[in-house]
Amino acid sequence: AYVNGRYRPITDEAIGIEDRGFQFGDGLYEVWSVRRGRFLDHEEHSARLERSLRELQIDLPVSLPALDVILREVVRRNRFTDGLVYLQVTRGVSRRDHPFPVTPVRPTLVVTARGLDFTTIDRRAAAGIAILTLPDERWKRCDIKSVNLLPNVLAKQKARDAGAFEAWLVDEDGCVTEGSSTTAWILTKEGTLVTRATDNRILWGVTRKAVRALAEQEGLRIEQRGFTVEEALEAREAFVTSASSFVMPVTSIDGRTVANGAPGSVAMRLRELYIAAADGAAR
Ligand code: PLP
Repeated sequence: AYVNGRYRPITDEAIGIEDRGFQFGDGLYEVWSVRRGRFLDHEEHSARLERSLRELQIDLPVSLPALDVILREVVRRNRFTDGLVYLQVTRGVSRRDHPFPVTPVRPTLVVTARGLDFTTIDRRAAAGIAILTLPDERWKRCDIKSVNLLPNVLAKQKARDAGAFEAWLVDEDGCVTEGSSTTAWILTKEGTLVTRATDNRILWGVTRKAVRALAEQEGLRIEQRGFTVEEALEAREAFVTSASSFVMPVTSIDGRTVANGAPGSVAMRLRELYIAAADGAAR
């Protein structure tokens, strides 16, 4: 792991007890997929990182070019070509008090990475995943990639306890906002892709943006709006997207099958296109 200027074993106790990330969840994170040694959608993830930092008024303690070097060095030191890189920035260490430190402190920067066998995820995609729907109990700034993930964690666990892989969160109007760690999509009977518009109730998925561009290239119609669970159950296909799962078909929701219960062909096609583009063009 990289921690505040040093590379050290991930098992080291390297973060201060009074780190505001630990005390208040006063921090943010970003996740990149690395495939064949290349960072996927690197610029988009970096841009979102900068936006999260701006929204929380936290300064990155290193320059972006220096961060780039750190990200690659952590991958190199972990000796993998396929995997995930995790970055966390917190407001830093200061005597516990809710307002920002009066005397500014250096933000904490941590980068970790681990290898991942993407064939496991390919197999999951070939089978499709089950979804459990739950009320969206999160705050109203889900567009910030904050480390405050307790509602997401509780929802994911409820899904796993129910034998589902992911939870879809449903707002007060009965519309799906997103998954606990993924963007939610459906393909309607009429052949329109639907995913929620990028408002404050969802994280603006980097993979969502890339997949949307691919879908447009394929000539698919896209509507950015909320959809209900009923609409999803009547849809031709449903799927989720994220940096770690790319495009993942959904085959059941709350124990009821989506269409014929098999992964949708459009979802699988978009998955194929995303992976081909990533393997071909990512840097
Ligand atoms: N929505 C939430 C709540 C997430 O946590 C994530 C990923 O972590 C996503 C959506 C998907 O975003 P991305 O495609 O950038 O990984």
